[in-house]
Amino acid sequence: MLKSHNCGELNTNHAGEKVTLAGWVHRRRDHGGKVFIDLRDREGIVQVVFNPQVSQDAYEVAGSLRGEYVIQVNGEVAIRPKGTENPKLATGHIEVVAKEATVLNPSKTPPFYITEDEEIEESLCLKNRYLYLRRPRLKDNLILRYRVTKFIRDFLDARGFVEIETPILIKSTPEGARDYLVPSRLNPGKFYALPQSPQQLKQLLMVAGFDKYFQIARCFRDEDLRADRQPEFTQLDLEMSFVQMQDILEVMEKLFASLVKAVKPGARLLEPFPRLSYREAMEKYGTDKPDIRFGLEIKDISDIAANTDFQVFRSALDNNGQVKGICVPGCAHYTRHQLDELTDLAKSCGALGLMAMAFVGETMTPDAVKSAASKYLSPGQLKEIADRFQAKPADLLLVVADKPAVVNKTLDELRRQMAQRLNLADSNLLAFAFVLDFPFLEWSQAENRWEPMHHPFTAPRWEDVPLLDSEPARVRGQHYDVVCNGYELGSGSIRIHDRGFQERVFSFLGYSKEETERRFGGFLEALEYGAPPHGGIAIGLDRLVMLLAGERSIREVIAFPKNQNAVDVMLDSPSYVDKHQLDELNLKLKREIVRHNDKE
Ligand code: ASP
Repeated sequence: MLKSHNCGELNTNHAGEKVTLAGWVHRRRDHGGKVFIDLRDREGIVQVVFNPQVSQDAYEVAGSLRGEYVIQVNGEVAIRPKGTENPKLATGHIEVVAKEATVLNPSKTPPFYITEDEEIEESLCLKNRYLYLRRPRLKDNLILRYRVTKFIRDFLDARGFVEIETPILIKSTPEGARDYLVPSRLNPGKFYALPQSPQQLKQLLMVAGFDKYFQIARCFRDEDLRADRQPEFTQLDLEMSFVQMQDILEVMEKLFASLVKAVKPGARLLEPFPRLSYREAMEKYGTDKPDIRFGLEIKDISDIAANTDFQVFRSALDNNGQVKGICVPGCAHYTRHQLDELTDLAKSCGALGLMAMAFVGETMTPDAVKSAASKYLSPGQLKEIADRFQAKPADLLLVVADKPAVVNKTLDELRRQMAQRLNLADSNLLAFAFVLDFPFLEWSQAENRWEPMHHPFTAPRWEDVPLLDSEPARVRGQHYDVVCNGYELGSGSIRIHDRGFQERVFSFLGYSKEETERRFGGFLEALEYGAPPHGGIAIGLDRLVMLLAGERSIREVIAFPKNQNAVDVMLDSPSYVDKHQLDELNLKLKREIVRHNDKE
């Protein structure tokens, strides 16, 4: 190799040793007739001193060095003179005295600092991704990602799981998003779909008898990338036969708890992982992916509001709405401007407005309540409301009166916002929790039909099956989610393993017999050959690593992410292709696109 040691591994035990290092010039300083280079490689940084008295040649090479040049240095490890140690650096007690130096490759000046972690424009950081990845934080994130997948593989291997690859060129499998399609050259006019998940394939592996399967699987969903999403992402995909929900949750809880202890030993967990029903999550937090690191729980005051003359409350309730709120400790002093900001936030969630009640007095008497609603509420009603929230002097109630979906969305948003402002969430806590008892179906207003809450392969709670035709909204699914710190980390379910029932569900969801056969014929047939009872889960690996790395975007834990338009700006993909390639695929572009294509 061109080096004998890694930069970051040197310490006082190496004093006096001759070493050869190779890496990038991180920083250069000229100082008192000497040149100091911080030399960086994957393992860290070490200081190299170029002293003309030791080697005039090396000193001259050092003079020509600029940031990000790749160099090789021969030298000797020396203990740093007293008072010049750098406790911030792992190698800060030693330096390498250069005897020879060679420039292996110069570098253009990078468009942003590698040495500083300041924020840079997104297009720049995606276009020069290989430079961005040189930043120590990003490097650490990718190494953490590797450690996480390695841990997962070892953990599952020790428990009898086998990793099996499934194809990327498959047939559409419904997960609620649009498919990426790939035209088939050998089958003109036909298309493969890239997997939105390996759902049907992993179930077929259960039919094949594999019993415990997992895969670190790439999935593809052609969605608008509004939130922090990527068109391709990675799942820990897992399936087990002869199990019930408890068995899957147990494996996941053990996996997450031991993973966190291994890769993030300082982090705190809530153990055992809390389990809440979908209903409880919606009632307390207004969302099915609650951040349970802090309270600020939602309370329903519709019953109290129903007895008031306050028009805002009344009209919401008359329109099948609700009146709910959260109690924010110590914020009664909020100014008009601060309250206006919160009202704007509420409006951005679709609410008509936000009603604040500030408990400004020393005691909880009605005249100590500052609110537009006070004059419509009797002292008894004010007290009842304060009691419901267990509000104390100096607290601020934020109340929303609207349709349930709007109330939930708004209070979820306000809850997160206030927790952030008041720094209520322990950043050292990874609050994993399971959300259970989801409804089996949800009504799609847009499509005017029932849709599966998870996907159509999910089994309902068997005892609820009789309700399927009469009261579908009340049927619960055998579907579970893992959430952590306000993010949905993954979903899974016990599956339907009986052809007849699976067909019934497809038909309930509005698939015709022909469509069911065309889309799922092969899969349904497999269920007739002794398909075992089975269930599984898939965990978003990008998001899991993001949380473990303490990052706020999955892009910071993905080596080569795409931008908001699903474009890889570094390799310029997607891109136009030659006409003969389209001909081979029997594809023809629309005229206006052809013109564009020609210009390229
Ligand atoms: N295939 C599902 C998903 O991608 C997970 C599962 O049910 O195992 O969300």
